[in-house]
Amino acid sequence: MNVDVMTRPAVLILLGPPGAGKGTQARMLQEKFGLVQLSTGDLLRAAVAAGTAAGQQAKAVMEAGGLVSDDIVIAIIKDRLADEDCRNGVILDGFPRTTVQAQALDALLASTGQRINAAISLQVDDTAMVDRISGRSTCAGCGEGYHDTFKPPHDDGSCRKCGSPELTRRADDKAETVAGRLDAYHAQTAPLITYYDAAGVLQSVDAMAEIDQVAGDMATVVKSVMS
Ligand code: ADP
Ligand code: ADP
Ligand code: ZN
Repeated sequence: MNVDVMTRPAVLILLGPPGAGKGTQARMLQEKFGLVQLSTGDLLRAAVAAGTAAGQQAKAVMEAGGLVSDDIVIAIIKDRLADEDCRNGVILDGFPRTTVQAQALDALLASTGQRINAAISLQVDDTAMVDRISGRSTCAGCGEGYHDTFKPPHDDGSCRKCGSPELTRRADDKAETVAGRLDAYHAQTAPLITYYDAAGVLQSVDAMAEIDQVAGDMATVVKSVMS
């Protein structure tokens, strides 16, 4: 498998509404398969924190739960994909989110002779996403994701992976913004399921199962598309 990965870098796309488990699964796949997780949400939050021009434009839209403009997101991902550490393959987490972004990705991959191995749809019930997002936290030290109920940190609130005592919650992870974010998903991102089905690369997993079960199903899919 490693030989294939080296000769043809894998490109995996994770599709699913906010809270589906894209970040959680992307981090696990990153460890299992040596791929690099590229989360446009993380890249945008870093741009906001750094106060770049793109970050300044994105900030209010992100807080309101809308989608950042295609131009900004495409520029950010294009830059990141060119980095050396992406040469063994990537897991796109949260990108593309619109048809325009999907077409830009196709053009970008065509120009570098790459292809999409799979677009994996994480299938969930919308009704469960409010609880998932409301309980979400992230380790400030290592980026590990947690959930108050489904994946709690240590009893003292510290990270199980790196021991950091600091877990943060996202400004946009409020029950009030979840409905709007789910609407944005259905209106603008869900059509990509048909887009990738037509391209012959769509795979689906039941993402309502427990985290480890979903991870096992994801690994099976990934192994089947990596050669
Ligand atoms: P996304 O990146 O798709 O928005 P996350 O991976 O951040 O989703 O997961 C959202 C929240 O739900 C996190 O707190 C995570 O720990 C939790 N979570 C992820 N997958 C599951 C699952 N299969 N069952 C229960 N909780 C989950
Ligand atoms: P979640 O998985 O919970 O939806 P993300 O971390 O993927 O969260 O994204 C957080 C926010 O960043 C989104 O609500 C949106 O405002 C912005 N964002 C992330 N990725 C994209 C993208 N590909 N296109 C447009 N906006 C994006
Ligand atoms: Zn940590």
